[in-house]
Amino acid sequence: MSSTVQTAPRLSREEAVRIAAELYGIEVSAAPLPSERDQNFLLRDSQGEQFVLKIANPQESLEFLEMQNCMIRFLSGAPVEMSFPRIIISKSQKDIPAFESSGGQPHYVRLLSWIDGVCLASVQPHNRKLLRSLGRALAQMDAALAGFEHPAAHRSFYWDIRRASVAREYLPLLPDSKRNLVERFLAGWVAIDWSRLRSSIIHNDANDYNVLVSPINAPDQSPDWRVTAILDYGDVVHTATVCELAVALAYVMLDKPDPINAAAQVVSAYHEVYPLTEDEVDSLYALLTARLCCSVCYAAYQAREIPANDYLMISNEPAWALLEKLSAMPQEWPRKMFRFACGMPPSKDVFTRARPTRERLLDSRRELAGPSLSISYQSPLHIVCGSRQYLYDADGRRYLDCVNNVAHVGHSHPRVVRAAAEQMELLNTNTRYLNELMVEYARRLTAALPEPLRVVYLVCSGSEANELALRLARTHTGREEVIVEDAAYHGNTTVLIEISPYKFEGPGGRGRASYVHKVPIPDVYRGVYRDSDAGLCYARHVADAARVSRGLAAFFCESAISCGGQIILPPGYLREAYASVREVGGVCVADEVQTGFGRAGQYFWAFESQGVVPDIVTLGKPIGNGHPLGAVVTTPEIAKSFANGMEYFNTFGGNPVSCAVGLAVLDVIRDEELQENARDVGQYFMDALRKLGEKHRLIGDVRGLGLFIGVELVRDRQTLEPAGTEASAIIERMKSRGVLLSTDGPFHNVLKIKPPIVFSKADADLVVSELDAVFAEGI
Ligand code: PMP
Repeated sequence: MSSTVQTAPRLSREEAVRIAAELYGIEVSAAPLPSERDQNFLLRDSQGEQFVLKIANPQESLEFLEMQNCMIRFLSGAPVEMSFPRIIISKSQKDIPAFESSGGQPHYVRLLSWIDGVCLASVQPHNRKLLRSLGRALAQMDAALAGFEHPAAHRSFYWDIRRASVAREYLPLLPDSKRNLVERFLAGWVAIDWSRLRSSIIHNDANDYNVLVSPINAPDQSPDWRVTAILDYGDVVHTATVCELAVALAYVMLDKPDPINAAAQVVSAYHEVYPLTEDEVDSLYALLTARLCCSVCYAAYQAREIPANDYLMISNEPAWALLEKLSAMPQEWPRKMFRFACGMPPSKDVFTRARPTRERLLDSRRELAGPSLSISYQSPLHIVCGSRQYLYDADGRRYLDCVNNVAHVGHSHPRVVRAAAEQMELLNTNTRYLNELMVEYARRLTAALPEPLRVVYLVCSGSEANELALRLARTHTGREEVIVEDAAYHGNTTVLIEISPYKFEGPGGRGRASYVHKVPIPDVYRGVYRDSDAGLCYARHVADAARVSRGLAAFFCESAISCGGQIILPPGYLREAYASVREVGGVCVADEVQTGFGRAGQYFWAFESQGVVPDIVTLGKPIGNGHPLGAVVTTPEIAKSFANGMEYFNTFGGNPVSCAVGLAVLDVIRDEELQENARDVGQYFMDALRKLGEKHRLIGDVRGLGLFIGVELVRDRQTLEPAGTEASAIIERMKSRGVLLSTDGPFHNVLKIKPPIVFSKADADLVVSELDAVFAEGI
């Protein structure tokens, strides 16, 4: 390293101007640009056109410079959504002419077109979209470079992470504490089994000053940025392919409050485009920390040798701070997060454990569990682990999960798992002791809800939440009766079965209790009202029910109806319905068990799409990402009525572990910008499904709110004859193709789509193409 940095050319601006004139025949002004081993100038001609003049280090071979040009030309023609510079040919028709400096030293020279953009380092914050854009750009570049070969890239180069042992030479320059830190990280590098990593030529320097970004939305909005170019091909080397990502991550993580989470966004997007192997993912952390170690060691050396070169020191302080921060983390943490980012099982050995066969399991279950428990699919699945949007069966087969809205932020999200485990290790009790987690969680939940929803009861399931909501409403109003939607489901307790037509009118049901009023589902596709005023027409049925009731306690309604067939409420429905319920003194309950926590995309709660504020909101499923948690949030007034002397106690409700889990879920939704993801991917998914509907007549309707989507199948688009058996057949076929879907609605003809909201556009593409294939096969 030492000598190449010391031999970096030091030409004057005037010489740069002279090179442009003599070799390229252009009149320019010149300004210096930073570089470690070469010398770069920004040139501008009289028309304002800009170029980069690169004066090579005398130790750089002509062959290596030619390789860089080859690579630039190769990438320019590859399917990579980035700009690459044009190589300007000299007057003498050369890509790489030579120039003799005033000191008599010969230099190879290259002139490249200037690429506009802002460097990643100067754009803040690095939001999810930008980080994912970086992952995608790197992946596209690496996928293309897998087909690029050049002998000059096969070299021994100190910035190649494979050569990180070079950094060891400089360890004596570090103070003891810092040396120990570096040695600890380099021990991880020593353990890397390089033979298990794929090799290829990589750019090897996607640092935040080499990555260019450009705004992608209208100038009047706060800009979203996209990676548009990666500059500087001077560090290109043939090495382990995953080093590309490791180098980029080492810089992306600098100065981030949660560096691993930021890195995970890049990893996830990279993996989506150019899948990583498990070995690559598992070695990523050792690689990126080794790169940071190289950075700080080389900087320590250069600070001693060439104190004037600021460029060399630019990321030194943040790199030390990052290494310190990482050293305080549990060792396994980054690997867990990166595996999750790629939807890989949490550990490699999960499929090698001894387990009963599927048949044995099924027999035992039939023998031991109540026969009213149902199981999905003709040939049931034995799922043994989950990660992100995937479920894995005992044989290691991966399924894309499009239905599990409980695993809201992704199956087994490491942050949620960690929150639960750490709190479980410390304490789990009930609400009879003071605990800051419960108060903090209640504060965070209410902060996400509008006034006057300010009082929280923590419970253990959606059913418990609705059960308590009914008690609150009855105690507050002193009345009994309830209005519910046709085909609604609100839970599994005795009283909730009584207010769930889906159950009391279904097999084994006992029919409608006299205190229950049923109103038609506001379905604008097959219901009685389908016009633009449908919301108001349907709401009139609620008004009628409220009028005939002899003491209305509550109106229960899901904010988007799930069991009823993924129905999106028409405009004005809840506003009018709530008004008539309140007019007779009833309480409005929004069942958000299926729809809350950002799934609705544009809205954090689906009721917001109706412009209403309920009196009671019930929460479940996604709230704990699989941990049994539920909540009721209501007004101080209703809570006061409920405090009538009878204690409300719930052994598990509000326990510290549940609160830690609930907080982690809220944190992940915020930090990973998952509500925005639900909005963007949901819209993209629905557009693609509607397009599919133009091709396959079985698709009668596509509707949804964010990632709460229904695809209604009909045999005839005029009569709307439900295609229930076809829907079941599709579910089975999609399962055999590795996609888990399910049906719902009174005729079981609606494909319900409500995946973990980490679902990506690539996942949506996969579902649509598999559905297309299944439809094309004929049903
Ligand atoms: N409300 C709605 C809208 C539901 O869909 C469900 C469950 N499917 C519940 C309440 C009951 O929740 P849990 O199963 O957690 O008791």
